Amino acid sequence: MTIDYAGEVLQGSPRAVARVISWLENENERARPCMGRLYPHTGRAYVVGITGSPGTGKSTLTDKLTRYIRAKGLTVGIIAVDPSSPFTGGAVLGDRIRMSEIAQDPGVFIRSMATRGFLGGLSQSTGKVVNVLDASGKDVIIIETVGVGQDEVEIMRIADTTCLVLAPGLGDAIQSMKAGVMEIADIYVINKSDRQGADQLFVEVSHRVNQDDLIRAKSRDRSWIPLVVQAAAVNDVGVTDILDAVLSHQSHLKKDGTFVEKRRERTQQQTLQMIHYEIFSLLRKHLSESGKMEQLVDAIMNHEQDPYSIVQQVLSEWIRVPEG
Ligand code: GDP
Repeated sequence: MTIDYAGEVLQGSPRAVARVISWLENENERARPCMGRLYPHTGRAYVVGITGSPGTGKSTLTDKLTRYIRAKGLTVGIIAVDPSSPFTGGAVLGDRIRMSEIAQDPGVFIRSMATRGFLGGLSQSTGKVVNVLDASGKDVIIIETVGVGQDEVEIMRIADTTCLVLAPGLGDAIQSMKAGVMEIADIYVINKSDRQGADQLFVEVSHRVNQDDLIRAKSRDRSWIPLVVQAAAVNDVGVTDILDAVLSHQSHLKKDGTFVEKRRERTQQQTLQMIHYEIFSLLRKHLSESGKMEQLVDAIMNHEQDPYSIVQQVLSEWIRVPEG
């Protein structure tokens, strides 16, 4: 008997959720029809992004936040995007152990994703995993990632509310501000407030958030002035304040229509990424299976043709843009 995986995901089966996510990761062709069936059941979960440099306390915070959200009777999906290790290695294992208690909770689903090896790009894969968890009935989805590269900034654009976690003594706060990670945040968490330098960091960041027109001009939602919250996640201090900040951002989004606007932007981005991915996969398959790729590379290597005109040639053979 064949198992109806999409049906099981919709029933909330963690086994089916894990299986479908594996299909996505392995580019198994069974993923596509399954995702098509799940899609009508998405759009309900609230997506929170947690980003920041390694060691600022993101995992600790995710763990504590999850406990509070669960205490409200809501279910949680966690996607930990790990920058360095393959699925089972390194930091991911550490995170698992740290989250071990919540990992036992049937109302919580935790998934780690390595950042390498995704053809369609990491943010596309993360978006799909969010859809699977959403369809499975999770109320809140937390995406945890290291906020350094463009990929991570894009992942954070999937979130409805993004928290940037900063900590004293890591010397990275100003760096994050410069690197453009700052402008994606709706909430700044000054974690490790039990440590020296936390107060000063709080003052600096608050000052910048209120003064820096650039941050606001570039931020996604100009009418929202980011909140700065102090916390000591490891001691369970300030965690409910962060949750309150998320809720107030959520009600702000819903009040002025930005919520729908943001989701529309996200849908557009995801649709474009999917088109990009499908065209690329089809072309790559055709070029390699027909042996044409080898010919093209030979032509370029021998300087018979330049890659720029070859790309145009390949595209014109494949894509007809309707006139008018
Ligand atoms: P991540 O790499 O950002 O996920 O950070 P982790 O959650 O793994 O935390 C890094 C280290 O900082 C761990 O040893 C935590 O126990 C510790 N830590 C987390 N939050 C706090 C805090 O509020 N105060 C202090 N002093 N240490 C913390």
